[in-house]
Amino acid sequence: MKRRKVIQGLSTLPLIGSLPLSGARVAPKKKRDLIAELGIRSFINAAGTLTYMSGCIMHEEVVDTIENTSRHFCMIDEVQDKVGEKIAKLVHSEAAMVTCGAFSAMTLGLAGVLTGLDVRKVEQLPHLEDTGMKSEVICQKSHNERYNHAFLNTGCKVIEVETAEDVERAISERTALLHFLNITTNAGQIKHEEWVALGKKHNIPTSIDIAADVPPVSNLWKFNDMGFDMVFISGGKAMRGPQSAGILMGRKDIVAAARLNAPPRGFTVARGHKVNKEEILGMYVALEKFISGDHDREWKEWEAQIARIENAVKDLPGVTTKVTIPELGNITPTLTISWDDSIVKLTGRQLRDKLRFGSPSIEAGFSGLPLYYYQAGSDSIDPATEGTLKGANLIRVTAWMLQPGEDKVVARRIREELTGASGA
Ligand SMILES: *Cc1c(COP(=O)(O)O)cnc(C)c1O
Repeated sequence: MKRRKVIQGLSTLPLIGSLPLSGARVAPKKKRDLIAELGIRSFINAAGTLTYMSGCIMHEEVVDTIENTSRHFCMIDEVQDKVGEKIAKLVHSEAAMVTCGAFSAMTLGLAGVLTGLDVRKVEQLPHLEDTGMKSEVICQKSHNERYNHAFLNTGCKVIEVETAEDVERAISERTALLHFLNITTNAGQIKHEEWVALGKKHNIPTSIDIAADVPPVSNLWKFNDMGFDMVFISGGKAMRGPQSAGILMGRKDIVAAARLNAPPRGFTVARGHKVNKEEILGMYVALEKFISGDHDREWKEWEAQIARIENAVKDLPGVTTKVTIPELGNITPTLTISWDDSIVKLTGRQLRDKLRFGSPSIEAGFSGLPLYYYQAGSDSIDPATEGTLKGANLIRVTAWMLQPGEDKVVARRIREELTGASGA
């Protein structure tokens, strides 16, 4: 304190520049740039919120929260208590906890249903045989996506059904949970309300995976209001929270039991599901910020950016453009650019690579298949889908992960490559 005062006093002297005062009045320290230092490729993200592309750019407020809270010790339980209470109010649930993603929320939530507050049961997971614990999750066939592996981690099996009668038949004393996947709502015969009613009728908890389903912001409370006992969502997609965070919202008794299965306690199945105070508080700030955001304005900005990219290429010979909005999941204006390959001599994959390895590097989506089929860098594609992609002359572009001004760069680069490959 004293030394600082002396230095501050000295700094007003005219001769300060010539005084050998090391450490005083130095220019702000330049931050270390690890991405440049290690030669890691960073890029303009015109593809979307994808885990393998590091998800999203966190809000500045989230980064500030992480930085500021990182300098203090707190009891993790107290952080979860306080944040859980706030989140629950915001999303109309009885309780909530921050998990390390939607997938983690699924494992932890189901673990909570299985164990209740019985510590002995917590220690027995994932071994369900002869423990008296339930062991099955029921799910519509079209809702049994790869993410349901989160349930298998507890030792449970997933039982597929198609009709309400199937559900009635499948329910037994082994049934732990009736699970619903929001993005495949239209593919299943049973819709939300009926699913919740089936759970209530048989006194079995119901859950829903809405991991990538904001916007609309109202989805944060819609399914809690509807009566689902658990709702799982990702924090590092459109909410722009930490990529390694998500939220379990739901019944008080289930969230309490889920927390018994989660760090900081124990050496049990969920020990690897650790979130620290920075992520818990960062997640809370991201949620708050998302709820209070101006969603209409943001949507209009996305539309304007997409229009700018579309207008840059739509008049090129052989090129067709179309803007669509997915009905469910990743709801954002999505531009598909396709072309006649007798005029533009490129495949979708070649254009994607030209953008990826060009300057600046740009990532775009390039097929009708979910983007998680592709591994960046290694270029490996699920062999089962490789064949269907050959000759797919299209790429897909979204604006929601673009930083200000990047839409112009994306527009220019795509136009350059399409023009360059054009034989017209
Ligand atoms: C992204 C996603 C998940 C996994 O979410 P994480 O937050 O990455 O754990 C689960 N289900 C669906 C439908 C998703 O889109």
